[in-house]
Amino acid sequence: MLPVLYVVIPCYNEQEVLPVTSKMFLDKLKSLIDSKAIADESRILFVNDGSRDTTWEIIKQLSSENKHFIGISQSRNRGHQNAVLAGLMEAKDCCDITISIDCDGQDDINAMDEMISEYKKGNEIVYGVRSNRDTDTFFKRFTAQSFYKVLNTMGVESVYNHADYRLISSRVLQEFANFEEVNLFLRGMIPLVGFQSTSVYYSRAERLAGESHYPLSKMLSLAVDGITSLSIKPIRLITGAGIFVALLSFVGIIWAVVAAMMGATVSGWASTICVVCFIGGIQLISLGVIGEYIGKIYLETKHRPRYIISERTY
Ligand code: UDP
Ligand code: MG
Repeated sequence: MLPVLYVVIPCYNEQEVLPVTSKMFLDKLKSLIDSKAIADESRILFVNDGSRDTTWEIIKQLSSENKHFIGISQSRNRGHQNAVLAGLMEAKDCCDITISIDCDGQDDINAMDEMISEYKKGNEIVYGVRSNRDTDTFFKRFTAQSFYKVLNTMGVESVYNHADYRLISSRVLQEFANFEEVNLFLRGMIPLVGFQSTSVYYSRAERLAGESHYPLSKMLSLAVDGITSLSIKPIRLITGAGIFVALLSFVGIIWAVVAAMMGATVSGWASTICVVCFIGGIQLISLGVIGEYIGKIYLETKHRPRYIISERTY
């Protein structure tokens, strides 16, 4: 029996690239079907993430033209991670394997062949890893690489240079459905499910058209989400810093008492101000980090739905 593949593609305001890349995806799917790598029931599943342009119209048009295209639409823009999750959860009961990929043509679709053959060798998760970033701007490369480094030092288990281009079997997705958190960071969560996994390498190209929807602010918030939803190291660091500062001030107190006893108590204004500022700063940062976690807990306790599908093309 050939495996049924669902290619899950999140789309947000992608009217410029979609007409181009949808053809590429379809050609790839057809060649995989023709070479008997996957079953003819395989589909390309677009997830419209509340686009404001004609993306959803394009998806509906594509679905009416070819049975291999299907689409779902989120009721509003919820962000890339939620869109991917919506697609994966939609696909998990209809297929044997899913491959999630961005719709801008940056990820090399030819890596799919290798992903599928790795699946056939028994791997349930296959990570697509970028072997180079030559086409990225220096800024993007620098920020992205710092991002992975910070994640790793913070104890988040994630695959270096892997974004959200990966093959996941429906078996893994059935288990993943039990991860109910609303703060999503898929590339850190999927490794937690376990199962046999491997990586395939590809080089990342430039966006075919349109603009990146990941400006620095979104990248930073993804990084903060990634760290705070998968690691409690920052809280530990605060505790460590607290102990360090406490020890330091202990030394300071002894010094102050000794100085006072020796009659060397001059105005002392500068040192007082320094200490107050320093401790004040540390406290505010610590409160901020703790607040970040409390915010997360607050959002998790609401158990709000992580995605709402408002329309389907089928
Ligand atoms: N995307 C999405 N919702 C968003 C932002 C982006 O579904 O709110 C999709 C987008 O259409 C694309 C993928 O996520 O398919 C990656 O986005 P983008 O290419 O802008 O990010 P970059 O590759 O620059 O990191
Ligand atoms: Mg992109």
